[in-house]
Amino acid sequence: MGKIIHRHSEQRQKIYELIKKSSEHPTAMFIYETLRAKIPNLSLGTVYRNLNVLVELGLIRRLPFSDTFDRFDANLEMHHHLICEKCGRVEDIMAPNIAVINRDAVKDEKFKILRHKIDFYGICEKCNKNR
Ligand code: ZN
Ligand code: MN
Repeated sequence: MGKIIHRHSEQRQKIYELIKKSSEHPTAMFIYETLRAKIPNLSLGTVYRNLNVLVELGLIRRLPFSDTFDRFDANLEMHHHLICEKCGRVEDIMAPNIAVINRDAVKDEKFKILRHKIDFYGICEKCNKNR
């Protein structure tokens, strides 16, 4: 985290901390609306620019779910997501059995798997109750 602290990166630091402490996988718009009261001169463009830098630095991940805006995640550990198709909520799941599929996918080791992409779509507990 030390590498992103220098004199012009206070905004970036605040954006990073917001994503880090949130379990909501915030969008750029959410970050902008949350921080603009605390950071004078903050613009949506600045938020996008800082998000791109944080992604390039490998401090956060971009989650490009096709049916909604990009969301951002500071949890870099291997995990998967449950996405509510009604309210857009994104929840973490830690499912160690999913990790095993990297091994199952390639039996002969001629292809080296670096990553995979699996998302789960459905209706969250809250939306299910309000139906
Ligand atoms: Zn929902
Ligand atoms: Mn996550």
